[in-house]
Order: sequence, then structure tokens, then C-alpha cells
Amino acid sequence: MARTQNPEEPIRVIVRVRPPQSGRDDLDVDSLAIRGDTVQLIRKQRTFSAQFDAALDGEADQRSLFSHIRPACEAALDGINATVLAYGQTGSGKTHTIFGGLLPDEQEGEERTGIAGRALHQIFEHAACAATCGTRVMVSASMLEVYNETLRDLLLPSVDGGHERPALALRESESRETYVQGLTEVPLHDAAAAVALIRRALRMRAIRATDANARSSRSHAVLQFIVEQRGGSARGGLRSRFCLVDLAGSERAMAAELLARDHQRERCQINTSLTALAKCVHALSVSTRGESHIPFRDSVLTRLLQPALSGNSRTVLLAMLSPTADAVENNLSTLRFADRAK
Ligand code: ADP
Ligand code: MG
Repeated sequence: MARTQNPEEPIRVIVRVRPPQSGRDDLDVDSLAIRGDTVQLIRKQRTFSAQFDAALDGEADQRSLFSHIRPACEAALDGINATVLAYGQTGSGKTHTIFGGLLPDEQEGEERTGIAGRALHQIFEHAACAATCGTRVMVSASMLEVYNETLRDLLLPSVDGGHERPALALRESESRETYVQGLTEVPLHDAAAAVALIRRALRMRAIRATDANARSSRSHAVLQFIVEQRGGSARGGLRSRFCLVDLAGSERAMAAELLARDHQRERCQINTSLTALAKCVHALSVSTRGESHIPFRDSVLTRLLQPALSGNSRTVLLAMLSPTADAVENNLSTLRFADRAK
């Protein structure tokens, strides 16, 4: 399916470099440079340079990052599906950018609060404002994890105190929309309750990560806000999704690239969903009205995101870079992917 409604609107691509952590990072001071919206990376005396919709260095705070996400959130409040994808190697700041201020043991605070917390405030501000002109706004959330091509509910309360949850199945509705059968959708009444819910889900994700060897770097976390509006200016009713995706570390996708080059299968841990997503994002960016085939069916994540990515929808790709010297290869791979997505 092509992006039939707005083929002229490409995927917005924003590059963000994580700030250095004093005393911990061996910094890469020479090869990575940002000037305006252009990112330059020098590797082995060759220069990669590309312009993006925005490029933010380590000085940029969460608030300025969100100023680039706000239009997508507003689109979701206008009834248009919107998706934000955070792509980059482990340690490049994906989780902080999306869930900052909501992670276990973190204080929610103006500086730390990431996209999820800021979007919630925007959504509930809109709801309060819409109520004054007779529009009823109903917000609910779902949150799941994709790990090893298996879907697990992060909002399902534990029955026996354990952390594992049954695997969920993807199904197709009669209108051929993909949905997750039995996924918990929790109605949200205010931002504070939503924050508490997401915190619980993230704690569960963190506990599982220590259970299974750095699982969080191999899993994708998908948080969806479902916004329904009735009455007032929303006359016939509006329903849309705002989807935030904290992707698995992109070093896994790079492994797939290497695999294609030198067939060292045993050394690579390929993430099927990440590789498939990269193919879909690229296909979407070059698709024109009704023409191209987008290979959504190749993985669990791309099947799940198909409604969010196709048709009349907005997509923002956050290409996350790490400022450390050992990240040059992964940064280059991320920039190439981001450049192809434009
Ligand atoms: P990833 O999810 O890509 O593996 P994280 O979000 O966990 O990366 O970030 C790695 C570390 O860097 C974490 O300790 C995180 O708190 C910190 N960090 C990342 N981005 C920022 C930022 N913009 N400001 C401050 N600290 C950050
Ligand atoms: Mg992370």
C-alpha cells in the first residue's frame, strides 16, 4: 500500500546526537559535525554528508527535540495517524528521547521529560480545550514489546507475580487492518494516571531485560495512544493513533548488512523486524501514488505498524547518534539509513 493521501509528504527525518557523559565516554571530537541541518561524518578519510529536516547536537534539550515532534502529535489530534520511530545503536539515546522522565527511578522533570510525557500533556491540554466547545476526547493507550518476532503485552497486569506474559497474535480485521488480538487498551483519564501506567510498563520491560541478557537492546517497545473524538467540531467523529516506537539497537540491522556482504551468518544476530522496517521505510520514501509495493508482511513489527505507516499518516524518523569514538561505524550506518528514508 502506498501513502495515497499525502504522497508529497515524505518521512520527516531528524538527527539527534546524544550529549557526552562526562568521565564515561571516549569522545569522538573529529569525525562528527553538525552545521545547521547538515550532518557530516568523516571515516577513513572519506566524508559522508547529508541534510535532514533537522539536526540536533548534544546541546539540544528535550523541549527543543519535542518542537520537531509537536506537528505529528497535532496531526494525531486532527484525526491523522502519526508515528515516531527512534532508530540508532544501543546507547545513542533512543529510550531517553522517547521515555525520558518515565523510566524506573527517574524523576519526571521538565528537562528529562521525553516525547511520551510531552505528548500526553499536549493531548490532555487539547482534550480540555476541546471540551469547552462540546467535543468529547477519549484517550487510551496500549504498550507492547516485540522480541524475537514475538509480541508481548506490557500493560497486562500480572496474575501470578511473574514477569512473562503470553505471546499475542497479529490478526487482520474484515477491513484488512492488522491488529493485535487481546492487546490491553487502558482508558486514560488524565496525564498523571497515564504517566503512572507507562512507568509500570517500563519497569516490566527493564526487569525482563536483566532476565534475558540485555533484552531491551534487542526488543522494540511500541507505545500507542488512541485518540477518539466525538461531537462539537469533531462532528462525525475522529479516531487516530499516535505511535511511539523505541526500536532495538541498530547494530543488529548493521549485522544484516554485513551478512549480505560476507556471509558470516554465525557472527550476526539479525533482527528480522528491524531489517524489514528499514526496507519498508525506504520503499515508503520512494513510493509515489498507488505505485510501489511496500513489504510490510516481512516481519511482526512492520505488520503491526502498517496502519500507522501507510495511507494518510505522518511518520517522523529520529536517527540517533552516539558521540563516542567507537560509534563511528554505527553512526555511519544510521545516517545512511536516515538518508535513504528522506
Ligand atoms: P538507547 O535507548 O539508545 O540504548 P539510552 O536512551 O538508554 O540509549 O541512553 C544511554 C544513556 O545516555 C542513558 O544513561 C541516558 O540517560 C543518557 N542520555 C541519552 N540521551 C540523553 C540526553 N539527551 N540527555 C541526557 N542524557 C541522555
Ligand atoms: Mg534503550
